[in-house]
Amino acid sequence: MVLETDYLVVGAGASGLAFADALVAEGGAVVTVIDRRGAAGGHWLHAYPFVRLHTPSAYYGVNSLALGEDRIDEVGENAWHYERATGDEVCRYFTQAATRLAHTRQVRMLFSHEHLGSGSNGEKVRDLRTERIHDVVVRRKVVDARYLEASIPATHSASFTMAPDARVLSVNDLPAAAASASSYAVLGSGKTAADACIWLLDNGVEPDRIRWIRPRDAWFYDRGHFQPLVQVGAIMEGFALDAEAGAHARNIDDLFERLEASGRLLRIDPSWPATMYRGTMLSRREVDALRQITDVVRLGRVRRIEVDRIVLEHGETKTGTGVLHIDCTALGLNDAPAMPIFQPGRIVLQQVRHLSPSFNAALIGFVEARRESDADKNRLCPPNPYPSSIEDWPRMTSRTWRTEARWLSEPDVAAWVAASRLNLIGALADHANKPSVQVAIKRYLTHVQAAVDRLSQLDGST
Ligand SMILES: Cc1cc2nc3c(=O)[nH]c(=O)nc-3n(C[C@H](O)[C@H](O)[C@H](O)COP(=O)(O)OP(=O)(O)OC[C@H]3O[C@@H](n4cnc5c(N)ncnc54)[C@H](O)[C@@H]3O)c2cc1C
Repeated sequence: MVLETDYLVVGAGASGLAFADALVAEGGAVVTVIDRRGAAGGHWLHAYPFVRLHTPSAYYGVNSLALGEDRIDEVGENAWHYERATGDEVCRYFTQAATRLAHTRQVRMLFSHEHLGSGSNGEKVRDLRTERIHDVVVRRKVVDARYLEASIPATHSASFTMAPDARVLSVNDLPAAAASASSYAVLGSGKTAADACIWLLDNGVEPDRIRWIRPRDAWFYDRGHFQPLVQVGAIMEGFALDAEAGAHARNIDDLFERLEASGRLLRIDPSWPATMYRGTMLSRREVDALRQITDVVRLGRVRRIEVDRIVLEHGETKTGTGVLHIDCTALGLNDAPAMPIFQPGRIVLQQVRHLSPSFNAALIGFVEARRESDADKNRLCPPNPYPSSIEDWPRMTSRTWRTEARWLSEPDVAAWVAASRLNLIGALADHANKPSVQVAIKRYLTHVQAAVDRLSQLDGST
């Protein structure tokens, strides 16, 4: 069988679907989206059972379809913040988004299909149910929507070894196995490890039964600064804090001291240096809960788990048969190096505005439809890799600000950005007359140019 299409999108996760959705909204392109998984949704299909979005649902997903009801939660760790979809809700949403796309008749969805690369008769695609290989003739571009494919607990390979009798499991299996343990060792520094600790605490495990093995300490945003719609002033306030810290920072350490002092960034243990920065966020209530866990092992990465001890990079610590070791060490966000997004015959979806995967994929779809030359498209969409450490913050943030200035000078792009439901500050115009919002906008505008200049000096890569 030979298929023909204008665009072949490889990956039906958030990025591939957001790109296809925005592209077909602009006109008559014929798009084929394939994924080796059996349904739409990418990594969410195999996420741990208690996962939620860490950002509000309000600006996640594809542009043409709302996720959730923009409800503000009233109780729990997310109280007074906008709702965040569960993993199951995200999967159902992407199924609906894919179905709607297929109904446009411009989009063909092929699940359980794997892209094998280019061949003499077109792109090679294997149907994983029949093992048959098909050629797909692509008239315009192959869209790589898996370059930043997430590394998740269910599918990653642990970088440590374990004795056959050691009790080690993926965080995906924690709810089923939790009752069988007397205590817990959570392995990992990031958001998944934080989620595992919070799940244990929420399920009645006393903090002194949890040991947290953290190779690095991490910075988290305060989720209060990422609240959209009627609370959009809080996002503007967060941007103002970024600009003020950036404009005055003497060096990276001073920058992070300023961001912490202003309440923009949080770390679980303020007495310990934090070097990891992945752009994830927690609520202050979650941070308070996590601070109850005081048994923290900081001896580097785990090398091996024995029945009675854990061997780490810089030493070892005791463990036991009653301890459940919970592997939360998957990388999560993929920090692959930048490459041009628009290339001859190819689009490689990446971040543009920092930490906005849905928005970025949709923007790239819009720009692909509206601009002719790859040089012009790349000018509007320069890549901005996911961050890993504090040294990445200056590059990431200043690149976003420089790129946003280009969008504002192009009326069609500025209009699309302003109207997109994926734009976290989309409601700013509706609330710009509030005095607190005006103050935040003024503070941001006062400092942003100095911040771009200063952060560019702090960033060796620009
Ligand atoms: C646990 C977790 C929580 C997150 N929470 C948020 C959040 O709250 N807000 C936010 O903005 N971002 C969040 N992110 C960031 C996240 O990366 C994005 O939200 C998004 O889901 C990533 O989608 P993706 O399409 O880029 O990648 P993926 O979801 O990884 O999808 C890539 C797809 O490509 C397919 N694929 C790969 N190779 C091939 C091939 N050869 N042939 C066919 N198919 C192939 C894979 O099967 C996969 O389905 C989170 C990430 C993680 C890991």
